Amino acid sequence: MDEFDSIARLFRPLADSPEALGLMDDVALLPVRVGWDLVVTADAMVEGVHFLTDDPPGLVARKLLRVNLSDLAAKAAEPYGYLLTVAWSPSWDEVKRAAFARGLGEDQARYGLKLFGGDTVSTPGPMTASVTMLGWVETGKMVRRSGAREGDLILVSGTIGDGYLGLKAAQGELDLPAANLEYLAGRYRLPEPRVQLREALQRHASAAADVSDGLLADAGHIGEASGLGVSIELERIPLSNAARLVLRQAQDEAGGASDDHRRKPHPEPVEGRGFRADPLLRLATGGDDYDIVCTASPTEVDALIAAANAVGIPMTVIGRMVEGQGVRVTFQGQAVAVESLGWRHG
Ligand code: ADP
Ligand code: MG
Repeated sequence: MDEFDSIARLFRPLADSPEALGLMDDVALLPVRVGWDLVVTADAMVEGVHFLTDDPPGLVARKLLRVNLSDLAAKAAEPYGYLLTVAWSPSWDEVKRAAFARGLGEDQARYGLKLFGGDTVSTPGPMTASVTMLGWVETGKMVRRSGAREGDLILVSGTIGDGYLGLKAAQGELDLPAANLEYLAGRYRLPEPRVQLREALQRHASAAADVSDGLLADAGHIGEASGLGVSIELERIPLSNAARLVLRQAQDEAGGASDDHRRKPHPEPVEGRGFRADPLLRLATGGDDYDIVCTASPTEVDALIAAANAVGIPMTVIGRMVEGQGVRVTFQGQAVAVESLGWRHG
């Protein structure tokens, strides 16, 4: 099958919006929307680096869309559509390519995304795919990293550390009940971009970023962009039940854990109180969470939390924007030395 047939068969069914021109022109044509800004982001994934060779192709495709959606979510933008560039490697036969395309279709429907076009090439190297995604936000309403003010509180959505632990779960490195392993591996393989937070962020947040490099690193990005320091209280970081179980195991193995936290069943998420600083620090720097770290003035915090909860997403205060620069971490009031804030690109 030649490349044109392959593109037509795989991608034309996904590109049925007027903008895509049936993938029969040189370009896509996007009408402007008066009173709105276009928000643009791109993310690429390389086989063996960003996903494993055995990962199901459909999941790879969906994760690629979702990491881009996570960027749009952090900017309070409404998903619109995307361009897709793929470099197929010889090991990606028609069956794998079709499964990849089906994954795209599934999440296009779920998130209301349109495929506008892209490019297709072959490579002797690892399969590589890149998405350029577009979203809409009313003019001037995008939530930047640079909008935080001194004294603003720092909050994070959902739970932190599940992506990091999920990779370990997927690689068989954790000994947990099956349901917990499944939950964690699922959060690594298929993040849930927090698109529902759009209104809450737009109305109440002063700055926001998605958590892909690690909570501390991404909170640090807000600090840097806003010309401020970031102060994080490690024991406030929200954890899932599965993450708590992992920490509890590690603590029991190390001996000397207090057991009072075992008696109370907690609804998720619960702050990291009762655990030691070190493992919490690993979760706070692990990355791949695809939750949102944001800031809000003290007068907006309650409204932000309420608006997030109203769409089913927990929001937890974890720190404060302070004068100066850099990321300061405390644990139960004591300063904690941090060697690396998170994932470094390169
Ligand atoms: P060109 O020769 O100008 O690079 P192509 O032949 O690569 O154009 O592409 C033909 C059409 O197919 C274009 O509309 C392009 O956007 C679309 N297309 C090519 N590859 C992809 C892809 N991976 N995903 C979506 N659309 C694609
Ligand atoms: Mg081309």
